[in-house]
Amino acid sequence: KFRLRYAPSPTGFLHIGNTRTALMDYLFAKHYNGDFIVRIEDTDLERNVEGAIESQFANLEWLGIIADESFLKPGNNKYGQYMQSQKFAQYKQIAFDLVEKKAAYKCFCTNEELEADYEKQTNLGIVATKYNQKCLNLSLEQISKLESEGKKFSIRFKVPKNEVYTIKDLVRGEVSFDSKELGDFVILKSNGIATYNFAVVIDDHDMEITHVVRGEEHISNTPRQMMIYDAFNWSYPLFCHLTLIVDSTGKKLSKRSGNALFFIEEYKNKGYLPEAIFNYIALLGWSPVGEKEILSKKELIEMFDEKRFTKAPSTFDMVKMTWINSQYMKKLADEEYLGFIKKFIDEKRFNLNSKSAEWINQVLLLFKKELEFGIQINDHLDLFFNDIEIDEETKIQLLELADHSYLIKTFKDKISTMDSWTIENIKSAIKETGAETGAKGKELFMPIRIFSSKSQHGPSLVDVIYLLGKDKVLKNIG
Ligand code: GLU
Repeated sequence: KFRLRYAPSPTGFLHIGNTRTALMDYLFAKHYNGDFIVRIEDTDLERNVEGAIESQFANLEWLGIIADESFLKPGNNKYGQYMQSQKFAQYKQIAFDLVEKKAAYKCFCTNEELEADYEKQTNLGIVATKYNQKCLNLSLEQISKLESEGKKFSIRFKVPKNEVYTIKDLVRGEVSFDSKELGDFVILKSNGIATYNFAVVIDDHDMEITHVVRGEEHISNTPRQMMIYDAFNWSYPLFCHLTLIVDSTGKKLSKRSGNALFFIEEYKNKGYLPEAIFNYIALLGWSPVGEKEILSKKELIEMFDEKRFTKAPSTFDMVKMTWINSQYMKKLADEEYLGFIKKFIDEKRFNLNSKSAEWINQVLLLFKKELEFGIQINDHLDLFFNDIEIDEETKIQLLELADHSYLIKTFKDKISTMDSWTIENIKSAIKETGAETGAKGKELFMPIRIFSSKSQHGPSLVDVIYLLGKDKVLKNIG
């Protein structure tokens, strides 16, 4: 059975990049009826952000990326714990075991010493600076002396000499790293806490992870992780490094681009539908067979094919995501649309209590086909809830039209004498106004629209007039 995991560090909130990773892990697992696991990688205590875990889970769940196992819902005991901070003692023990086996060693170098040495290497023109192995051959006496002096140590993994590590990556094929390029790296920090590269291997092994799907920024970590697998004689999972996501300028998408548009929460608040975001993000770095792009979660799970990850970076295109969202909004049943859209109405601007529920529903439905996302509804409601003034642009539009005072007077008369306020009667009133004044097309509709609704844009004129109601239309015409 395939077992895949999404392993966020709680250093921030769910964004487009890590959602894409989670989503691909999820689709991959579900396509093969496997398990999707969420594991929290919180070894870097200083970088943990309060509320990040809760928010990541809430957003994943909102998107429909549901974990089969996580710390909220642990699996079989044999898989261990789902949050790295619960396993610190275990990692520490294993790191010391590696020291026993001489696969790792204690390093007493201080940060200052290390930095001075890296600087020296840099000055010599060495690009990838490495640890100088000063502590590699300390004798047992030297070690116990240093320890008795209370000197702190970290544990470094001894990188095997003259080895080539070849990742058989599902996205980019074979990628090789020469062990010469890699310095002995820390697996246990001097505070006794494991590093990411160490904990991740133990966890992936404990949890019987079969495929590691993650962002390409981790590819250079992979040879280090392979060495650790080798040290225990564990077999590697299959690796799959997804290509970068870039913005429209080709720069890596990151929170440093200073962009709220990077976070899922932002879209949730703006009234995007989770199904639409799921759909769009599934197309980032992966493509289905065929032209169809509007695909449900079910279809995506069925169509998923790990051979179809793209090799080029993928561009996050908000315009496209927004378009996909508008397609999903149009597909909602009226009841669903109403339930959804009402959550986004700014009740400080629009007093919903002043109107009947039925009337509100009819007004909201006028915009169902026009909205790209939820909060846009607020751009359309002024006309129905508040008294508005004709804006400058509309005044100019009005001046450009042929003289319409007779037309408006004719229309007003028909409206004020109308006994029964129906769509049909309003239609006839407009038609008769046209017949009596000789105005056609825009020359007929535009003045009526502007005078009745004080706005040159809007949905179907007859519907707008009908919903505004006789009093309001007469008041607007003045
Ligand atoms: N915790 C890592 C991150 O947040 C994930 C690394 C992995 O998937 O192995 O980037």
